[in-house]
Amino acid sequence: MSSGPIPIPQEHLAAKRLAEALGLPAFAPGWVWLAGAGPGDPGLLTVLGAHAIAEADVILYDALVNETLLKLARPKAELIYAGKRRGKASAKQSDISRTLVSYARKGMRVLRLKGGDPFVFGRGAEEALTLARAGVPFRIVPGVTAGIGGLAYAGIPVTHRDTNHAVTFITGHGADGNLPVLNWNAVAKGSPTLVFYMVLAHADEIARKLIDAGRDANEPAAIVSNATGGEQNVHVTTLAQVGADAKTVDAPAILIIGENVRLREGLDWLGALNDGRKLDPAPLGNSGFRNVS
Ligand code: SAH
Repeated sequence: MSSGPIPIPQEHLAAKRLAEALGLPAFAPGWVWLAGAGPGDPGLLTVLGAHAIAEADVILYDALVNETLLKLARPKAELIYAGKRRGKASAKQSDISRTLVSYARKGMRVLRLKGGDPFVFGRGAEEALTLARAGVPFRIVPGVTAGIGGLAYAGIPVTHRDTNHAVTFITGHGADGNLPVLNWNAVAKGSPTLVFYMVLAHADEIARKLIDAGRDANEPAAIVSNATGGEQNVHVTTLAQVGADAKTVDAPAILIIGENVRLREGLDWLGALNDGRKLDPAPLGNSGFRNVS
């Protein structure tokens, strides 16, 4: 029987070349890497994330991970879906953590791949703490989070010095599925721009609480669903309308409330690219805003 060299797929070679050129860390057997896959567009995976996928022996990935990325995996890598989708029940968090530990103890290179950034509303910290308790070495590979990268694809910058000097990231979903217990007065007054994850179920209640706490009902807002993916949809609205609009939107979606939503008129680069949308070079107008020079 001839035993010539096993052909290495092209994608794999490219990942190896990048890893060498950049001096990326080796993915050692017995380690778990918790990596962010970005919000959807496969191009938003980090180089370290690509290296991790190319090297891993086993990959546990979530529903929000773009499966195109798994093409970078070794042909023999074990790919385990650990999300809630297609009517299947969600894998239990404790089961996922246990699986990570047991694969690592077998001496495998274990990749836990999550949508966006693993440490932003992604339970990455919980899983990493389980590894720490079990004495399993791990590395965190950050990713582009939906509340920043997803908004950039909608032409909405999370900050601009003429609109907001702060931004608050909030989940609309507590561990028990209800609206999280927060000081909504403080949230409303704390920063000019609010970005909500997991917001669709409680959008109505959130908007009411913010208006009751003094936010302007006419304040600009936008709901961005499937951000950065092929089905991205951007719905620009007002705080008063958010609850009704959220009912018409598909998950996953983020909600942004604040004056910086108006910048989309000048920064919707994707709309300009795809639909020839004309961009307004002065989306904030001249009233009340400092001229940027
Ligand atoms: N770790 C992820 C967030 C996980 S929580 C991150 O950093 O992005 C899941 C929530 O993220 C969704 O309910 C939605 O609010 C948001 N989300 C993730 N991907 C998204 C996308 N492509 N478009 C819009 N929202 C997204």
